[in-house]
Amino acid sequence: MIPVTTYKGKHVALFGLGGSGLATARALMAGGADLIAFDDNPDQVAAAKSEGIPIGDFREGGLHFFAALVLAPGVPLTHPKPHWSVELAKAAQVPVIGDIELFCSERRALAPKSRFVAITGTNGKSTTTALISHVLASCGHNAQMGGNIGTAILSLDPPDQTTVHVVECSSYQIDLTPGLNPSVGVLLNLTPDHLDRHGSMDTYAAIKERLVASSDTAVIGMDDHYSAGIAAFLTAKGHKVVRISTTGKLEDGVYLDDGRLVRAQKGKMGKSVETVADLSGARALRGVHNAQNAAAAFAACNALGLTMGEIQAGFDSFPGLAHRMEPVGHAGRVAFVNDSKATNADAAAMALSSFERIYWIAGGLAKEGGIAPLAKFFPKIAKAYLIGEAAPHFAATLGDLVPYEISGTIAAAVEHAARDAARDDHDEEGEGPVVLLSPACASFDQFANFEKRGDAFRAAVAALGDVQPAMEAM
Ligand code: ADP
Repeated sequence: MIPVTTYKGKHVALFGLGGSGLATARALMAGGADLIAFDDNPDQVAAAKSEGIPIGDFREGGLHFFAALVLAPGVPLTHPKPHWSVELAKAAQVPVIGDIELFCSERRALAPKSRFVAITGTNGKSTTTALISHVLASCGHNAQMGGNIGTAILSLDPPDQTTVHVVECSSYQIDLTPGLNPSVGVLLNLTPDHLDRHGSMDTYAAIKERLVASSDTAVIGMDDHYSAGIAAFLTAKGHKVVRISTTGKLEDGVYLDDGRLVRAQKGKMGKSVETVADLSGARALRGVHNAQNAAAAFAACNALGLTMGEIQAGFDSFPGLAHRMEPVGHAGRVAFVNDSKATNADAAAMALSSFERIYWIAGGLAKEGGIAPLAKFFPKIAKAYLIGEAAPHFAATLGDLVPYEISGTIAAAVEHAARDAARDDHDEEGEGPVVLLSPACASFDQFANFEKRGDAFRAAVAALGDVQPAMEAM
């Protein structure tokens, strides 16, 4: 835990008592803050109270004598409208901050030069965060991974010269962190998402830009025009920027070229171009989207002083994240892959583009647009196994283009897909067939969340009996 000493003796209000809120409360109390916490949900309030966290409804006295309101990241700061606690803070001119801001103020006080990598982007944040953390840990660094990826940042070890904090930041969290100043800031990509929370694409991009603009070294993806614009703007201001791309060669930066990462540099001695990593042996980094994550991880780890050999070894041993194109096992030539996190067609496209012969398990609670945007991958699909509410709708889209069955459940889909894939004799010299769960749907019609759906897939694969399990994901 990181006791927050910078608010010692000060009145601090905390709204939101979920997992990260409780961790914040503990850290503030351990550092000596005079805390008062609240939540709109009486069960959360009761749970916090039972562990000795001081509770109070700030609507009774207002926030005038408070040093800060600490907001949990799920609570609306601006859109669709500010939460009542935010309105109270505004009325009292009290800053509204989040737990990452408390970490940053503590880092400034304890170890301002400690290594701190912050990662953001619309997609790939968790994978890149886990990958950077894995590469660092695998060559002996004390990597402290947290933030949006799971562990609350204030539950990690305190910053010092031996630690490297690797922190995933959602746009909500950046919004609550005015004092953000990572040693390395990573912006992977920017596409429209969560606009209900931010109002417009420009506001959303401006929030994400703050993470790289405040960093000592900025690593920025060049494959969408918002991020590329931010890179140009920061470079013009004299900021240190490392560009990355998977769609084209760069004059200066790290890019993907035929399964390898290449670094081009323009120096006083002229231009140099060299291969810095080979992704072909990194089994958890398949697909162009993961090459973007790997290029960002390379640039970040390199900025922290790791060698090419160290980074390559970390890429090769990266087990991947659960439920994101996670290899679950194989039976003969047939591989089983769990991509339950693919809750929309865009995410499923990443997986479908990464394999050549696919027995595809899809369906669940359909999202707008269905699977029509995936039509270009249909020729690679040997057969589709449809589950959940979306099954009839998806069947209509597949029509005569792809053989399909309505399997109904994951268990039936896995059993039938495994049977059919085992008989597959297409291109026996090439890569074997894959039974892929990449649903392009939310899970809530049949499961509590995408993790439970992925667990059901794993269990169904294990129940087949003759499957060699894969290395366990992070
Ligand atoms: P996030 O934490 O930003 O939600 P994840 O690393 O959890 O991202 O990946 C979620 C899904 O997004 C993956 O299953 C994959 O389909 C897709 N994805 C991962 N990395 C990228 C990327 N760099 N660009 C686009 N899509 C990606």
